Amino acid sequence: MFDPKWAFMDPVATLAVSGFIIQAAYVICLPSLKELADSGADEKALLAIEKIVLQVEGVVSVHAVRSRFHGSGFYVNLHIQVNGKLTVEEGHKIAGCAKRRLIQEGPDIVDVLVHIEPDKKL
Ligand SMILES: [Zn+2]
Repeated sequence: MFDPKWAFMDPVATLAVSGFIIQAAYVICLPSLKELADSGADEKALLAIEKIVLQVEGVVSVHAVRSRFHGSGFYVNLHIQVNGKLTVEEGHKIAGCAKRRLIQEGPDIVDVLVHIEPDKKL
């Protein structure tokens, strides 16, 4: 249909369409690959998690926040420091409160494991 001098456009167009297909495949596959690789929450979500936990009454500090994507959301492990003079029951209540708040307010959090440590300064 076209002038034969434009025949070189056939492989050029083929490469362009291949590029679009590869780019679309990358966009579609990336979330699944992240899930399969047990990836965790991104930096923004980890900061949101820390912020929520620090708002819980009795939490002095939080560290070692780790997350793992699984199914529909994240499983989170973290360490919190509380007043070392508190009873086990009081520390347990603080940990339970942190867990509930994270599941309610956090970014797609399914379950939380809280490790309690005494803050030796208090
Ligand atoms: Zn720790």
